[in-house]
Amino acid sequence: MADVHSKETRSYNMSMIRGKNTKPEIMVRKYLFSKGFRYRLNAKELPGKPDIVLPKYKTVIFVNGCFWHGHEACSGFVLPKSNTEWWENKINRTKERDVKSQELLKEAGWNVIVIWDCQLKKDKRDETLFGLSNCAIVVLFNCNFFIMY
Ligand SMILES: [Zn+2]
Repeated sequence: MADVHSKETRSYNMSMIRGKNTKPEIMVRKYLFSKGFRYRLNAKELPGKPDIVLPKYKTVIFVNGCFWHGHEACSGFVLPKSNTEWWENKINRTKERDVKSQELLKEAGWNVIVIWDCQLKKDKRDETLFGLSNCAIVVLFNCNFFIMY
């Protein structure tokens, strides 16, 4: 059967699905850069491959999609009506992986920040980003402001 999507559309869709260079993450990167933070991206050697690493502050940042990472009590997380059980299992596995990676990172002395896509929506963006820079500089340890499960 012929694929209805053009090659371009398909690779765009795939990049969205893989979650690399999605818009919310770029927003966070641009903000951090403008504030003088220097970072590394997609640190493959670290548990959970954090999206952004601030080596100077021993801080890692995950920018999580509310759906894929199962953000509880969030309007961005609604299980699909078909294959519900399959999705639920899939997302639960992702959540378990997230918790495990964060534990490993903390044990290794990393400050872990999780930002949800919904915290970067227009009405919340400024507050979130402002909080983020404070979080990375001032509160090097136990910065739980962004860990909202
Ligand atoms: Zn959310």
